[in-house]
Amino acid sequence: MKQTAADTAHGSTQASLTPFDDLGLAVACREPLSHHTWLGIGGDARFFCEPIDVEALTRLVKRCSDRSVSLRVIGGGSNILIPAVGFAGMVVRLSAPAFCNIDVQRGGLAVGAGAKLVHVVSAAVQAGLSGLETLVGVPGTVGGALIGNADGRGGDIGQRVREVSVMLHSGAVEVRQGTSLSFGSRWSNLDDGIVIGCRLELDEENPDQLTKRMQKQWIVERSEQPSGTRSVAMMFKDPHGTSAESLVLQSGARDFRVGGATVYAAHANYLVASPGCSSDDVRSLVELVRAKVRERLGVELTPQIEMW
Ligand SMILES: Cc1cc2nc3c(=O)[nH]c(=O)nc-3n(C[C@H](O)[C@H](O)[C@H](O)COP(=O)(O)OP(=O)(O)OC[C@H]3O[C@@H](n4cnc5c(N)ncnc54)[C@H](O)[C@@H]3O)c2cc1C
Repeated sequence: MKQTAADTAHGSTQASLTPFDDLGLAVACREPLSHHTWLGIGGDARFFCEPIDVEALTRLVKRCSDRSVSLRVIGGGSNILIPAVGFAGMVVRLSAPAFCNIDVQRGGLAVGAGAKLVHVVSAAVQAGLSGLETLVGVPGTVGGALIGNADGRGGDIGQRVREVSVMLHSGAVEVRQGTSLSFGSRWSNLDDGIVIGCRLELDEENPDQLTKRMQKQWIVERSEQPSGTRSVAMMFKDPHGTSAESLVLQSGARDFRVGGATVYAAHANYLVASPGCSSDDVRSLVELVRAKVRERLGVELTPQIEMW
């Protein structure tokens, strides 16, 4: 097979042996990560795997560790920007049913990290369990929400987390509770491994009232988020006491554009990627807006979107 520039850049060809061939796992080579992110841009993962269960994940993680292959997890891909060169390691996605369980328990839910947050919120509301409905508009998975302590109007997911199972790079699984868990503003201390699942403590409430509250919240969220396209990203975290959106507006950056990346007209803390937009366009737009806010208002915004 003829080697392409991308093969050379990532040091392998599709036909060549990989460090995972004897594991009995379906490992793809040169998987386009643009297929797995909201922005739909960026390069390939050198290796990509959706393990079928925890045992398969363990074998994969141990092998990555033994062979010094860098490993990253992708959730719903709503908060990451993949560079044009892609990622020269293993990307894991916990999409198999074994990682997407949503089990109603007494006083809460036990959920897998791969479950979509929107499904978890709906399941809680249907079961008459309150505490998550403020997260109804947040895209992505439970894993992504725990890593970034996703929040909505009125609360973040961390307030409800009682226990998290994390697979370390050795393949060992740790169950963390109490003071070993720490959640801050769009931040958690869970970024040292692979989140497998968690237990959420919720309050009992009348399902009809809860449903009404969730629907109201959903309408508000939808009115504030970009509609008609999935090629969007949230640019900045809200600084303490104010919103990133108001700062972008005050700075005069609302009409900024770099190549195919534009500040979203109806909500200035989002950017929209039009067809042909590159990862560099997105990165440059975020930096340009950030610099404008710094220069005009003296505030240093922290990017929300994670640049891989
Ligand atoms: C339209 C829109 C609206 C948004 N609204 C909100 C909002 O209201 N509130 C809010 O907080 N955020 C919001 N966000 C940001 C984003 O949706 C959240 O950060 C979300 O929780 C990311 O989840 P994800 O599964 O898509 O994570 P990804 O984008 O896939 O990943 C984010 C990070 O989490 C890591 N990760 C994912 N799963 C795991 C795992 N199982 N184990 C270890 N690491 C993992 C990834 O490696 C990466 O570092 C919004 C984004 C968009 C595009």
